[in-house]
Amino acid sequence: MKFVTVLILFVFGTMLSAAERPNFLIIMADDLGYGDVGFNGCEDIPTPNLDELAAGGLICTSAYVAHPVCGPSRAALLTGRSPHAIGGQFNIPYFNHHLGVSLDEKFLSKALQESGYFTGLLGKWHLGEGEPFLPNQRGFDEFYGHLGGGHKYFPDKYWPIYERLKAAGETKIPPNTTPQLRNGKEARETEYLTDAFSREAVDFIEKASEKEQPFFLFLSYNAPHAPIEAKRDDIEKMAHIADEKRRVYGAMVHCLDYGVKRVVDSLKSTGLYENTLIIFLSDNGGIARHGASNMPLKGGKRDVEEGGYRVPMFFHWAGKIPSGGVFEHPVLTMDFYPTLAKLAGTSLPKEKVLDGKDIWSDLLAGRNPHQDELICAISHGPNSTGVGARLNDWKVVRSLGKDQTWSLYHLNKDRGERKDLSAQYPAQKKKLVRLAERWARTHVRPRWFYQEADAATWEKNSNPYFEGTFDLNEDKKTR
Ligand code: CA
Repeated sequence: MKFVTVLILFVFGTMLSAAERPNFLIIMADDLGYGDVGFNGCEDIPTPNLDELAAGGLICTSAYVAHPVCGPSRAALLTGRSPHAIGGQFNIPYFNHHLGVSLDEKFLSKALQESGYFTGLLGKWHLGEGEPFLPNQRGFDEFYGHLGGGHKYFPDKYWPIYERLKAAGETKIPPNTTPQLRNGKEARETEYLTDAFSREAVDFIEKASEKEQPFFLFLSYNAPHAPIEAKRDDIEKMAHIADEKRRVYGAMVHCLDYGVKRVVDSLKSTGLYENTLIIFLSDNGGIARHGASNMPLKGGKRDVEEGGYRVPMFFHWAGKIPSGGVFEHPVLTMDFYPTLAKLAGTSLPKEKVLDGKDIWSDLLAGRNPHQDELICAISHGPNSTGVGARLNDWKVVRSLGKDQTWSLYHLNKDRGERKDLSAQYPAQKKKLVRLAERWARTHVRPRWFYQEADAATWEKNSNPYFEGTFDLNEDKKTR
């Protein structure tokens, strides 16, 4: 056994040569529904380039983000921590430059940067607007994008509004209207934003190809997050979609898809394709009223049903991951940090706490990396707490909203959460609710709220109100 240990240390230790260290490209869509990509069965929105990559890699059908909204989900990916463990349960409110993810949490980007990676973030940030929470300070050598949770797509439309507000002395210009930033400096963008971020990704990859270092690129498209705005020629290509909202939404997704082709083509032309691990995913579920579909899953963004936080995802690495694979076991975005750090030979400080795990060997072997582990999502509303808790094939759900009750589903047979089995399996339901409660009791108080005023409401309403939420005897009677 000693030999095995030594061998593992040698392979994964910090002694990997530059040529052996893989490049990482994470492509994240924003509010993209589970059922909005061809590789998950979507039939009306063409995503041929994502589908081709997915087919050439490993499609993860049970991939979970840590929270069904943007900020907490992204914080979890970059810190490897549950947002509830670091006080990041809510999106960071705008115009609060003193707020950001705790500096005690070293981001994955920082760990990779310190171990010699050339790092970039392109697109949406949403993890702090002020010093020292900005992308360049959290481990990204290059940043081009915006700091808020969403952005208008057409510069020729948002720029005049921005100029007018600025000239009027407005100090709180909506973050979805402000200029894109390039490493802290305002940039005069001219292209539709999805095209702009695809262009920037190609530039980044070309720059990376001239360096000795491996790269880590987080391509964080804001599409297809609201506002639902697409280019006319893309909308025309979606003429077969009758619903107008979905037609425009579909055009946004389609634009992202051919942007990904540009990026992959640049990997190929620079010779970096073979040694690049590409991970594609969405940061949370889609919003049906914006045109998204999470089918066959129930619920969407903000919800604790599967449609809220089970997201489209695949891993692609030519030559390392066999093509045509489907991985049905759970994968967490909190697993990315330890998994990528290990692949990079990046040593992490002993005190670094991680809530996910290195899943690489399980991914390749088709083993469940999270057997017998509780996978939980908690979503706080002003007057209620939604909870989804999965253990192997079973899941209990208490929907977000007032007067909800606990339901039990067998996810392996019913991933759409249609048939409540509470009555047949009361002990199973109780077991999962108790496990979820035990986990919820470890949460720290949120370090910020969507709005500053919510802090007072939180106390006034005795939130997070776990007493009532987890009290099965109080089912139906609690708020
Ligand atoms: Ca989102």
